[in-house]
This record gives sequence, structure tokens and C-alpha cells, in this order.
Amino acid sequence: MTIDAIVAGAGIWGCTVARRLAETGRQVLLLERRAAPGGNVRCETDPQTGIEVHSFGSHIFHTHIPEVWDFARRFADFNGYQHKVLANYKGKTYFLPLGLALINKFFGVELSPGEVAGFMADEARSRALFDAFFRGYTSKQWGKAPEDIDPSVIKRVPVRENWDTNYFNDTNQGIPLAGYNSMFDRMLDHSGITLRCNVEARLENGKFKAGGDELPQSVPVYWSGPIDALFGWKFGRLPWRTLRFEKEILPVRDFQGTAVVNYTEAEVPYTRIHEFKHYHPEDKKTMEAPATVVMREYPAEWKPGDEQYYPVENAESRALAEAYKVEAAKYEGLTAGGRLGEYKYYDMDKSIEAALKATANAKGGV
Ligand code: UDP
Repeated sequence: MTIDAIVAGAGIWGCTVARRLAETGRQVLLLERRAAPGGNVRCETDPQTGIEVHSFGSHIFHTHIPEVWDFARRFADFNGYQHKVLANYKGKTYFLPLGLALINKFFGVELSPGEVAGFMADEARSRALFDAFFRGYTSKQWGKAPEDIDPSVIKRVPVRENWDTNYFNDTNQGIPLAGYNSMFDRMLDHSGITLRCNVEARLENGKFKAGGDELPQSVPVYWSGPIDALFGWKFGRLPWRTLRFEKEILPVRDFQGTAVVNYTEAEVPYTRIHEFKHYHPEDKKTMEAPATVVMREYPAEWKPGDEQYYPVENAESRALAEAYKVEAAKYEGLTAGGRLGEYKYYDMDKSIEAALKATANAKGGV
């Protein structure tokens, strides 16, 4: 078989790259370490209840980037689900993000939009709010006090002065009606893509290999595995957070009335509970069935062998990632991308955007 490009890692970045290259007439070999494509967006259908379980934690597709939305919709019809996140603090439930619903309930007031800024200018109030909803959750999530994590992380959560309880600011949101796995299957359903699963791609003595086989060395390589692993961790290991999940099938129709509830106190050992049936409100069969699948999420420090979930971005880890990027630049035809390849806290849409950019010059046949 002629191979015009190699893509290592069939997560959302790798699948997007593979599809784009295939559409320009290239024959792409896509290598995946796991048994199936999809990266951490991969889902499984629970055999007992028929509910789509997000095996690596909740993934909600949301974007304001028109090219990304257009690209994703070629492979999935979305159900229009709009994500809300509730926060449970000391047994009471609030609507995130920080906005009128949360502030008014927490302080027992009835502010109007114009009154929020003045009310929250009081330092004791803003501290109380931060301590209730961010300090405990963040210390569980990152194993550090909020002051010691990169400020960009907490800035992900919007702050509003209105009653909008949508968790994301993006107008385009949803879950694929036929499930995420089907979106990946459709993306990879192209005569120019050959997917090989259960195979570890690596660089050995300057040569790219897949399992025991040497790969053609003269073709472009798109790498979305861990960038430090690609170079044998020669400058040291990049730090990650990992997650452990406890899944349970409960004999109730509806456990918590929504898809995600965050538990923001440090004393509760998990950060959130996912209840997956709520991602498919259109699926009346699972919605009305007297059974539900819930999953508790426990963050933990990553050690080799664990799944990598969140890059722990700080000045030191960024410098380390940069050293690997400089190393990668020495290889002609090598592009590293995606969460693992770029060491970046990517949302799905940003990963697609980056993959579209990485392949933007690959127009036309080879
Ligand atoms: N966060 C928090 N309390 C919450 C939700 C989020 O302290 O109830 C902080 C926490 O540090 C988290 C960050 O905000 O890591 C980003 O939250 P997001 O919901 O974007 O996290 P993700 O869904 O990507 O894990």
C-alpha cells in the first residue's frame, strides 16, 4: 500500500487531520494505541440500559467557530442539547456559572443585573463565593490551591451579570444524535484512510515505527501522542492530572435531574457526578426507563501508565513542552498536535480548529 501521510493517535485532532488529508487525495495511515478511535471522547453504550456513557467523562460539543461547526456537522447531526452545570455546596444546589441565579440564591438577595458589580465589589462577599464554589473544587481537581494554578484554568468558567445559566457562551452546542462513536466512524469512513488500532507508534533511533514495523520515513507524520514520549522523555516528563471514574447503574428513572452536578466542597471526595441519559433528552426510551447510569469523577495526580487527562500548565511545564516542540521542529515533515502532542488544555472544537489549520496547506493531490 502506498502511504502518503502517517497520523499517530486517532483522537479528535488525529481523526480531523486524517480526514482532511484523505480528502486532498492522500493515502493516510492512522495509528491508534487503543482498541478504537475517538480518544477521550470515546463512548460506550451501556448494555443494560442502552444509555450512551462517556467513558472518559462528559464531553459536550460547543463552538463559536463556523468552520469547526460546519466540519463537525458533516459527520454528525447534533441534538441541540444546551449544557447547564449545577453546583452542590453544603447540600444546596446552585446554577453555575457565576451569575444572578447563583449569587442571588447564595446570598439570599434579589439583585438586578445593574446591582451585581457593586454588590460583589465587597471583598468578603467575593471571597465567600470563591471559597464556596472554586477553592474546594479546584484543590480536588488540581491538587493545589487556586492561587497556585494557571489563571487561565479558572477563567474558563464564565462570569455573568444576568440570568443566563448556560455553561458555555457558544451558540452552537449539542451531542451527536447517533452518538460520538458514530461521528468518528463517519469521519474515518473514507477510502484514503487506513486505521490500525492496538498499535503503538514511536520514534526509535530517529525512525518512526508502528509496533514492530518500520514506517516509510519520507512521508509527513502528524503526531498526537504525548510529545515527551515521542522523544523518550529525554528532557523529563510533562505533568498531568488523571481521573478515576466510578460507574453505577441505579434502579431509578432520574437520579439528579441533570447531566452534571459539581460537588464544590473539598470534603466531598469526588468533583462531579455525571448522569448520562440527560445528554439525550430526545431519546424517550432511555429517558423514561426506570434505570440510569451515573459516574462519579475523582481527580488524581498522574503517574506513568495512567491515562492523561489535563495538562498541568505552569511556567515550568510550558518550558518543558517548549523544549520538546523545539526538538520536534528538527524533524522535517513532523507536526505535533492535539492535547497530548501540544500539551494543551483543548476543548474539542479548538482541537478541530487546530487540526484544520495544521492541514490548511495540504490542498490538492500529492
Ligand atoms: N471550577 C471550580 N468549580 C466549579 C467548576 C470549575 O473551581 O464548580 C474551576 C476548576 O479549577 C476547573 C476550572 O474551573 O478545573 C475549569 O472548569 P471546567 O468546567 O472548564 O473544567 P472541565 O470541564 O474542562 O474539567
